[in-house]
Amino acid sequence: MSAPMKGYTLLPKTFDSALDMACFVAGLSGVDSAPAIDAAPFAGGRAAAEAALAGIDPRSYAASRNHLDGAVTRLSPYIRHGILSLDEVRNHALACVGNAKEAEKFIQELAWRDYWQRIYLAYPDRIWIDIENYKTGFDAEDYDDALPDDIKGGETGVACIDQFIVILSDTGYLHNHARMYLAAYIIHWRRIKWQAGARWFLQQLLDGDPASNNLSWQWIASTFSNKPYIFNLENVAKYCGPDINTIPRHNLALDQSYERLTALLFPHIGGPYG
Ligand SMILES: Cc1cc2nc3c(=O)[nH]c(=O)nc-3n(C[C@H](O)[C@H](O)[C@H](O)COP(=O)(O)OP(=O)(O)OC[C@H]3O[C@@H](n4cnc5c(N)ncnc54)[C@H](O)[C@@H]3O)c2cc1C
Repeated sequence: MSAPMKGYTLLPKTFDSALDMACFVAGLSGVDSAPAIDAAPFAGGRAAAEAALAGIDPRSYAASRNHLDGAVTRLSPYIRHGILSLDEVRNHALACVGNAKEAEKFIQELAWRDYWQRIYLAYPDRIWIDIENYKTGFDAEDYDDALPDDIKGGETGVACIDQFIVILSDTGYLHNHARMYLAAYIIHWRRIKWQAGARWFLQQLLDGDPASNNLSWQWIASTFSNKPYIFNLENVAKYCGPDINTIPRHNLALDQSYERLTALLFPHIGGPYG
């Protein structure tokens, strides 16, 4: 092994426990308090990744993936950081089922990841810019640049949105459907640029990945899709289960029909800007 460069010391690579390592890293950045590592629902490393892969159920996935308590795999941090390759995840999924058709939905989702990566590779400079105009009746200048503190702190006053924010910041993971709700709320209810939300997600997510993240945000914004994605409280109640607060008076901004929400959120659609 070569000697460290003059003036530099090598950092330790082994620790007695994850907490020791987290405290050491926190100390490097001058953080006083011990980090809350116990909250993270993911163990790092290849052995943990293999155990998570062994637990996937592609058949149940197809039927339940849109539900917060559905059979999603939580493999994304391992895939994102190269601990599992898409290829081996796909092959394992196929080996789990008798008929390849039964793994189709799951493999389609892996294909989304691959697709976003290929776009990023082909157009690396475009990842932070609007690929198309918004189809919301508004121009990009109509959206705020900064993410307000009530969103960062989970204090928007919309109960389910605040719960999603707390889950995201406590665990570094959010179910895909909750990511869609939160992103749509930020862009369309609060009229904030998707870039501000995407930047914040990348700081929070253990699977934070510029391609999957930014292009998903653009899909919701309508700068990379034909129309804006919106949702209502009835939809949250259908997919999120009893742990998420969907009491109407705690979620007034979402408790509307799709027709009413479209009229409220996009008043110019169908008009001269639509
Ligand atoms: C606003 C927003 C931001 C997102 N940001 C990220 C991000 O930074 N990093 C990231 O990996 N994914 C991102 N996604 C995609 C998706 O939400 C996550 O990949 C998925 O929720 C991870 O959980 P899982 O491993 O349990 O997924 P599963 O549903 O079990 O899917 C298995 C794997 O397929 C891939 N996958 C599934 N759905 C998607 C998708 N829609 N797009 C791309 N790949 C997918 C992931 O690698 C995932 O691990 C984002 C989605 C949205 C709507």
